[in-house]
Amino acid sequence: MTDTTRSERHRSRMQRQKQIVDAAIAKADRTQGLLLIHTGNGKGKSSAAFGMIARALGHDMRVGVAQFIKGRSDTGEEAFFRKQSAVVWHVLGEGFTWDTQDLERDTATAQRGWAIAQEMLSDPSFDLIILDELTYPLKFGWLDTKTVIRDLKNRPPMQHVIITGRAAPDALCEVADTVTEMQDVKHAFQLGIQAQKGIDL
Ligand code: ATP
Ligand code: MG
Repeated sequence: MTDTTRSERHRSRMQRQKQIVDAAIAKADRTQGLLLIHTGNGKGKSSAAFGMIARALGHDMRVGVAQFIKGRSDTGEEAFFRKQSAVVWHVLGEGFTWDTQDLERDTATAQRGWAIAQEMLSDPSFDLIILDELTYPLKFGWLDTKTVIRDLKNRPPMQHVIITGRAAPDALCEVADTVTEMQDVKHAFQLGIQAQKGIDL
């Protein structure tokens, strides 16, 4: 094949591709608040959600974060984003259930946390809300999935919500607009390397 034929073929392939992409873009003509879920066993669920805080702040949006399992304020992103006046950050957990081993206490903690999340979900001044590790209270039954879905559906129409955590319930994925599953190919922790600042916390 001559160079000219190759470049002509490339151009016509790219033209067809552009038509397909343009048609898809023209078809996506609605605007609304989205529900996103980052689930799966691989790394990147929370950090991808926190990356979207930076995007939102760049557009002068207001952001609320509710962390359901974490009981400690030791992450770099919390320290960084707390300095931003447009970010409200709640640490609502007490660590993992194998630390507390008390079902009633875990349930009460999760319910208290949901009341705070629910308040943000009823406040249209929040453009983006991150419900970090919400999947665990649902999985362990500390929170009722139906109630959570109802409250999510009743939020202001332009409000975006991102939920993170492993094993997102099917019912939640069904009502979400974008669901991403992080796949674990390998992780440094399995090689005996402890959590590193700037990467893991
Ligand atoms: P990140 O906060 O880094 O985006 P994540 O939200 O996907 O991670 P979590 O299950 O919330 O993952 O766990 C948070 C911590 O556990 C981080 O320190 C992360 O590096 C680590 N981690 C995440 N995935 C794995 C894995 N597959 N194996 C071991 N450790 C992991
Ligand atoms: Mg996480």
